[in-house]
Amino acid sequence: MEQVIAGNWKMNLDPAASRILVQQILIEIGVVRERTIIVFPPFTSLLHVAEIARNSCLKIGAQNMHWERKGAYTGEISGLFLTSIGVEYVLIGHSERRHILGETDEMLNRKLKTALDIGLISILCVGETETEKEQEQTEEVIEKQLHEGLKGIEKEVHKMIIAYEPVWAIGTGKTATPEQAASVHAFIRKNLKKPSTILYGGSVKPENAEEIMAQEEINGVLVGGASLNAAAFGQIARVKVP
Ligand code: PEP
Repeated sequence: MEQVIAGNWKMNLDPAASRILVQQILIEIGVVRERTIIVFPPFTSLLHVAEIARNSCLKIGAQNMHWERKGAYTGEISGLFLTSIGVEYVLIGHSERRHILGETDEMLNRKLKTALDIGLISILCVGETETEKEQEQTEEVIEKQLHEGLKGIEKEVHKMIIAYEPVWAIGTGKTATPEQAASVHAFIRKNLKKPSTILYGGSVKPENAEEIMAQEEINGVLVGGASLNAAAFGQIARVKVP
């Protein structure tokens, strides 16, 4: 299975700062060839980052897109605008969009369908909140997110990437143990109609990346905070797995 290291810059870095970071990342990952490495800058930086990364092995992703291709959707971005500037990936249903901005499984399902139609590779994020984990609802929550999110496109899941991101582990410094994460990954895999790349996300940093990536069930990582530091992101990208 393909190994993926993805860096979500969230709402950080203006175009000038983004240019600097992507140049530093390109130096760091110069020798990494066996993995797919993707960065997800804010919209205003995408064009700048895409131009700098052109002809390199670094792939570019967007943090969100709308399900319609164009029209009266003030403030939204079409997936077609993204592909037109060299964007190849898109994050769909990051927990910050689900929980802060109210995105529903139905909205995410529409976005996934459009992304498939226009040739963008989606990274569909799923994961339980702290309360849901305490109430032992992890599997139920993830099953619902997968079921509703992939409705009608279940058989095309191999054209997407799934990211398991427990909400309680995002930006908190808490991580699932590698075994916990691997067991949820196995559960996700069982629920998919076709084999798909499955990433783990939630406070991944150079110190814990190796043990996470060492799990056979885990095909890579989605990194938030640590991806804003080129050296840290580079270290994660170069992690050796047995
Ligand atoms: C994320 O933004 O997807 C994420 C996992 O963030 P962090 O690594 O900062 O927890």
